[in-house]
Amino acid sequence: MNEISEETVRADVRDWLAANWDPNLGLLEWRNKLIESGWGAPHWPKEWYGRGLPVGFVPVVDDEFERAGAVTVARTGIRTLAAATILAHGSDLHKEKFLRRILTGEDTWCQLFSEPGSGSDLAGAMTKAELKGNKWVVNGQKVWTTSAHRADYGLLLARTDLDKVKHKGLAYFILDMKQPGVEVVPLRQMNGHASFNQVFITDAEIAPEFMVAADGDGWEIATTTLMHERRGADSLRRQPQASDRPERIYREEADEIAIALEPYKWYPQRTGRVDLVIERARETGANADPATRQEIAKLMIRSKCAEWLARRARAAQAEGRPQGPEGSLGKLAASAIARQANEVHTMISGADAMLTGEDSPSDGIIAEILVSTPALSIAGGTDEIQKNIIAERVLKMPKEPRSDTDRPFRDVPKNIVK
Ligand SMILES: Cc1cc2nc3c(=O)[nH]c(=O)nc-3n(C[C@H](O)[C@H](O)[C@H](O)COP(=O)(O)OP(=O)(O)OC[C@H]3O[C@@H](n4cnc5c(N)ncnc54)[C@H](O)[C@@H]3O)c2cc1C
Repeated sequence: MNEISEETVRADVRDWLAANWDPNLGLLEWRNKLIESGWGAPHWPKEWYGRGLPVGFVPVVDDEFERAGAVTVARTGIRTLAAATILAHGSDLHKEKFLRRILTGEDTWCQLFSEPGSGSDLAGAMTKAELKGNKWVVNGQKVWTTSAHRADYGLLLARTDLDKVKHKGLAYFILDMKQPGVEVVPLRQMNGHASFNQVFITDAEIAPEFMVAADGDGWEIATTTLMHERRGADSLRRQPQASDRPERIYREEADEIAIALEPYKWYPQRTGRVDLVIERARETGANADPATRQEIAKLMIRSKCAEWLARRARAAQAEGRPQGPEGSLGKLAASAIARQANEVHTMISGADAMLTGEDSPSDGIIAEILVSTPALSIAGGTDEIQKNIIAERVLKMPKEPRSDTDRPFRDVPKNIVK
């Protein structure tokens, strides 16, 4: 067998695209063809729409698609987390029913983990699933659920057994979001966007075959989803850019991207937009102020270090090395940089930083930065939780004392009385 290398992969995908890419096809028709070839998700197993290639080759394949101007499989939103979890733990039925439609973009997904009383303490989930006859019947409330208002399916963590210890009494389900008993209520954020929802679940039914793995395995499977979330949603990581080319397939893709990215429109601002700092300092003349220059330099140094850390993590991943501490360190660094960028933007723009509307600095983007950066310290695990992870798992410091893992969950004191 020929040795696989960057050159052979590049040549193979280039040949396939030369023979098959046709911008006059419809989006769905093209994606089905792409999925059959395995080039849509080249690191997935061959029997499930992939080519079984090491994940490090994905950027090589992406490069060739970009060079040819070819449309890829659907990659936005929670669908990549759903795919990664189903590939790791799902049954053949799950893979058959969901994977292809994830790649074609026909189905969208959301992540039903956090609840009003359990976010950091995710294993304290109180949403209940009870087996009644031949169905699981679910009751409870989820919150912070990004894109639930558009989702066809949800990745649901629910408690099936109050008499088991906290982490053992959970199961992981695939919930049909369009069924009766699932009510999605949007929440408005302080930056004006409405990306999240509350999801009220009342007697919603799930057929037993839509439990992932076995009853009691919920926590382990949720950990897989979270690991992929922290790592940046698997390696289908390059986000699609809408093209303004005239052919139908580009217009269909642009519509899809616009809808899918609507909840994430403000996400660039939550990073603090370090990229705007120097331009703004020049525009306002703040670059002549020594104190501001010092703060800008500190921010740039921190931001560069974080970039190198991320590159080191990507290089390790490409070589197939296990994930090191870079994920938690990088997430924590990103929060610190966002907060620092907030301060620097405020120094540069002064009170104008609060303005929105036509005459505001950078069309209101600076104001949006100020009210969006707190999200980075919360989403996907708060700063404090990252610090606990680094202390316990990386530095091997003693674990926090716990009083919730040595008894049935029923007897653990809780915030919420049920
Ligand atoms: C942009 C964004 C998108 C999100 N999308 C989703 C989604 O799609 N699906 C979903 O399920 N969830 C989602 N979340 C929810 C997110 O995962 C939770 O907000 C997060 O895990 C924190 O949980 P919490 O809000 O309940 O805070 P809490 O857990 O109540 O924490 C409150 C405070 O206490 C601190 N704290 C808690 N425990 C400890 C501890 N052991 N040690 C030290 N300090 C501690 C926290 O750091 C925090 O400062 C999203 C959040 C954001 C901001």
